[in-house]
Amino acid sequence: GDFPIETDTIVVGAGPGGYVAAIRAAQLGQKVTVVEKGELGGVCLNVGCIPSKALINAAHKYENAKHSDDIGITAENVTVDFSKVQKWKESVVKKLTGGVAGLLKGNKVEVVKGEAYFVDANTIRVMDEKSAQTYTFKNLIIATGSRPIELPTFKFSKRVIDSTGALNLPEIPEKLVVVGGGYIGSELGTVYANFGTEVTILEGAEDILSGFEKQMTALVKKSLKKKGVKIVTKAMAKGVEETDNGVIVTYEANGKEEKVEADYVLVTVGRRPNTDELGLEQVGIELTERGLIKVDKQCRTNISNIYAIGDVIEGPPLAHKASYEGKVAAEAISGHPSEVDYLAIPAVCFTDPELATVGYSEEQAKAEGIEIAVGKFPFAANGRSLALNNSEGFLKLITRKEDGLVIGGQIAGPGASDMIAEIGLAIEAGVTAEDIAMTIHAHPTLGEITMEAAEVALGSPIHII
Ligand code: FAD
Repeated sequence: GDFPIETDTIVVGAGPGGYVAAIRAAQLGQKVTVVEKGELGGVCLNVGCIPSKALINAAHKYENAKHSDDIGITAENVTVDFSKVQKWKESVVKKLTGGVAGLLKGNKVEVVKGEAYFVDANTIRVMDEKSAQTYTFKNLIIATGSRPIELPTFKFSKRVIDSTGALNLPEIPEKLVVVGGGYIGSELGTVYANFGTEVTILEGAEDILSGFEKQMTALVKKSLKKKGVKIVTKAMAKGVEETDNGVIVTYEANGKEEKVEADYVLVTVGRRPNTDELGLEQVGIELTERGLIKVDKQCRTNISNIYAIGDVIEGPPLAHKASYEGKVAAEAISGHPSEVDYLAIPAVCFTDPELATVGYSEEQAKAEGIEIAVGKFPFAANGRSLALNNSEGFLKLITRKEDGLVIGGQIAGPGASDMIAEIGLAIEAGVTAEDIAMTIHAHPTLGEITMEAAEVALGSPIHII
């Protein structure tokens, strides 16, 4: 055997959960080691949030260049050099992952490349191709994330691809089938539709983008249809046949079996937590039926010195949730009374238009018997929005009737992903509709929409009857 290396805190996985936890634990005086078997930054930076947003931006630039005739801009011979788009996307990823490496180093966090496996509640083995090393720890944070679910009828291959495959296509496909209309499928479907691909989305449920309000998803569906995307709901994807240069996907809808041909089929039907190859059973860490790790409000597992954060625990699989939990776990390990509170956690979908939600929706508030005053304001009544030639959408501010306290917000429209932050702050800081209405928002900005919605909630809006 090797000589064990002793540390205070080990973090397994360097995604947005793990690297943030490691930095915070180091700031609080711990001797920290991060173990990562792949790339620093995890799914989010390498094959998730960041590359997808880069492609979304590139596709928008192309689409805008081609379709701005209505405001008097006509461009001819607009072309895409997709390998250049991909190189640019990779350069964005590299900047950020390089930044993470620098931050870890600057905080004196030791980075170890390899795959971690539990020996007991104070020991792991880290293996790479060549060697194995034992580490002992006082505390450990599991931040191993998740991976795409593979359907037995859609085995991943060159043309049956997961989200990573869809981010790294060698060319813009002529036709693409997307199985699963969740936010990943809808975002990537939008990317390729904007690049001119003929996209078909097959969704098993009644609607795409479950989790967002119908009024919001209706706007996304309308715009997808305008881009020529075919959306089939209540569609059961049954199987795929690979041809020389494409796929034929079979699905059932309305009791009828249908076939659709494409260059690729992207399967995004959910993600599975990476909890099965860690040796959790060696330590007796409790899992839910779905294989997620059970934790308390400090992200502590049933083993008191082992914590878990991010996609391996319950809750929406989002990068900012993982980072938030990473800070809480690192603080808990350092003896601070930090606990998670998910009320002000936003969820964003980067479709056209963008969708964003935080805190209570109308429906949730009603279900909990909270009396609410809702302020709804359309983007079409906002000057900046019209000047952007992008005025489809609305903002809804949910306030508590008795005192005007802001408890939630939903936005569908351009800039929703950034605008949601103000409502998140309002919830977190206990701000009222009156506070927002009295805050001077610069003119002309999309931010004024939030101020106007607050005035609607209070009953005296200026720019709407
Ligand atoms: P991960 O990011 O999955 O990182 C886990 C790390 O652990 C990986 O690097 C892995 O290699 C490593 N690891 C696993 N097992 C071991 C082991 N045994 N030993 C050592 N290392 C190990 N979220 C958003 O909030 N906004 C978005 O816009 C968004 N877009 C997305 C788009 C796509 C296409 C995808 C796929 C995801 C997107 N997400 C988005 C989700 C987001 O990427 C995840 O929620 C987030 O990455 C989870 O962070 P994590 O730290 O829990 O795990």
